[in-house]
Amino acid sequence: MSAHNWSMNENFTGSFTQQESIPEAGIEAALAVLRHGRLHRYNTNAGELSETALLELEFATYVGSKYCLAVASGGYAMATALRALGVGHGDKVLSNAFTLAPVPGAIAAVGAQPIFVGVTEGLTIDLDDLESKLDQADVLLLSHMRGHICDMDRLMAMCDTADVKVVEDCAHTMGALWNGVPSGRAGAIGCYSCQTYKHVNSGEGGFLVTDDPILAAKSVMLSGSYMLFERHLAAPDPEVFKEIKYETPNISGRMDNLRAAILRPQIADLATQCQRWNDRYYALEAGLRDVSGLQVIERPEQEVIVGSSIQFLLLDWSEEAVIEVVARCLKRGVELKWFGAAEPAAFTSRYDSWHYAKPVKMPKSDRILQGIVDMRVPLTFSIEDCELIARIIRAEVSAVYQAPS
Ligand SMILES: *Cc1c(COP(=O)(O)O)cnc(C)c1O
Repeated sequence: MSAHNWSMNENFTGSFTQQESIPEAGIEAALAVLRHGRLHRYNTNAGELSETALLELEFATYVGSKYCLAVASGGYAMATALRALGVGHGDKVLSNAFTLAPVPGAIAAVGAQPIFVGVTEGLTIDLDDLESKLDQADVLLLSHMRGHICDMDRLMAMCDTADVKVVEDCAHTMGALWNGVPSGRAGAIGCYSCQTYKHVNSGEGGFLVTDDPILAAKSVMLSGSYMLFERHLAAPDPEVFKEIKYETPNISGRMDNLRAAILRPQIADLATQCQRWNDRYYALEAGLRDVSGLQVIERPEQEVIVGSSIQFLLLDWSEEAVIEVVARCLKRGVELKWFGAAEPAAFTSRYDSWHYAKPVKMPKSDRILQGIVDMRVPLTFSIEDCELIARIIRAEVSAVYQAPS
């Protein structure tokens, strides 16, 4: 491949779904678990600390939380957070109109009903819309969708005043910061995913973090600790469990030692990996600036991002024109996802796809949602790959774009 080929015909040949392999240390640790056979987190020899308990301690240290629970998935972490906060059947929960299906799904899992809050051109939750709806629920499940973090200082002030508890969905912000605070540490509970397409990869998995001992103890019980909570290293004192252990049901969703073994070296590497994502993201962003009809998402200076995906807006474009850009890019090997498509394919990211939640039309958000184009940025891409991808998108957007007359 020639790096100097600037013609319209240069194509990209990499895979948008290929992540890096598991670090050798993770493979070694996983083999050790397979060899001793104690995969269940509470199956420990006398004096042995399980991989899962150690992982929780290390992740708590990484984000600076008092407590951490590792679980089966990010979706499970969110549903557990809602249960720990007492959300139940018929309750309402505020959440983003722009997010991924596991978020309204976690609300549905506890029998509650989402109240959707709009999205801004910065792809964050619309804080004015949120303010007007704060009296309708006691809990906000806030999704930092695609890594975009809203003004967390304003959001927390607003929610604290209204006594609305905040659960943060950090599936796309593990390793990110707002105003120096790690994402997931502003609200009552932070939830993360360890699914293959997130920032650490154990196939499936998740974390829940909090500083609240009662919420932590309830979450541990909910996850299926039986009465073995003393084997945790990042859970509250056994004393705290006395208050809740007979009142909290077991809804199993534990992490296991095999996945924990795979994850521990990745948590240790996370800061380095985040920097590598951002090197790629900013190369793409630079390559997409100053293209007529294409709006780059400006990131606030308070935000330290993890650029594991990139979005841009084709605002007020016709459906046909967006479809043509996506098709032309795909022909050249660049896989874009149009989040605005009327019929969801492969994934859903907009509130009106979730009919069970009985969504109410939001015209201001619809305009933005219809313009969102998304692209994954796996670490298997080089910086040069990202520069090439940006050149392809630039050329195809420019070829299709027609300025409003
Ligand atoms: C992936 C994801 C989750 C949780 O995912 P799991 O697959 O359940 O681990 C939550 N929110 C968003 C926005 C996601 O993309």
